[in-house]
Amino acid sequence: MKNIFSIDVEEWYQTNFQTKDTTVINKNISNVEKGVDIILELLKKTNNYGTFFILGEVAGKHKKMVRRIRKEGHEIASHSYNHNLVYNMSEKDFKHQARKSKELLEDITGQQIKGYRAPSWSVDYKRTPWFWKTLYKLGYKYSSSIMPFKTYLYGDSSAPRFVHKKDKLYELPPSTITLFKKRIPFSGGLYLRALPTKLLLMAANSLNKEKNEVIFYVHPREVDTNQPKLKLNFKDRLIHNWGLRSTEKKLEAILTNYDCTSFDRYLKV
Ligand SMILES: [Zn+2]
Repeated sequence: MKNIFSIDVEEWYQTNFQTKDTTVINKNISNVEKGVDIILELLKKTNNYGTFFILGEVAGKHKKMVRRIRKEGHEIASHSYNHNLVYNMSEKDFKHQARKSKELLEDITGQQIKGYRAPSWSVDYKRTPWFWKTLYKLGYKYSSSIMPFKTYLYGDSSAPRFVHKKDKLYELPPSTITLFKKRIPFSGGLYLRALPTKLLLMAANSLNKEKNEVIFYVHPREVDTNQPKLKLNFKDRLIHNWGLRSTEKKLEAILTNYDCTSFDRYLKV
């Protein structure tokens, strides 16, 4: 059974917490290449492939890194241009940004960009009904953007849990398991960092047993234990930093236990 491994390539400060205090962020400090290096090494060591959803702003500043990822056989896809939440944008602004990031990545790699992941899963059927249709018109083949689980920042608990087509575009949501009829995410971000490795592997096994793929996701900063600290309120600080020290080990366990591939290889698009 093939599973999918994905990386949202952004800087340590590119989050969408509702903090107003952005003045303390020193954007000259970059740790994206450090995290990407660690993840590339893990993928190589375990003989796996993945999809790197790269932010336009990051790609523009780190062109060599983008080419290196591609050269090592991984898929390059878009994680928007500047990490603005899709549900805060107009259809027109979204279209402009999604096109700009696609063209930039195509310029750098010389290859067609097929996939898109919305920043912070910021799409749903109510606020962004035009999202999938717009991506399709721009030439994208798939999206991995809707979280089928509701939180204060994102998600739609009525969305399908597995790969499906929406307005001619494939949508591949991050993985959830169901427990007492409730959906629980586990395959990336805080969920992956907070869960013990054993439970994480149990959750992934249960999906594979039902012949469903697991879609894992990680951010470069999540394997950097020395990253600069963001000034956040208590709840957001916890969400942002929980379990950072164990993430690299967990990823290694995942990549050792599962056969992982990129979205384009998985979908054969
Ligand atoms: Zn992101």
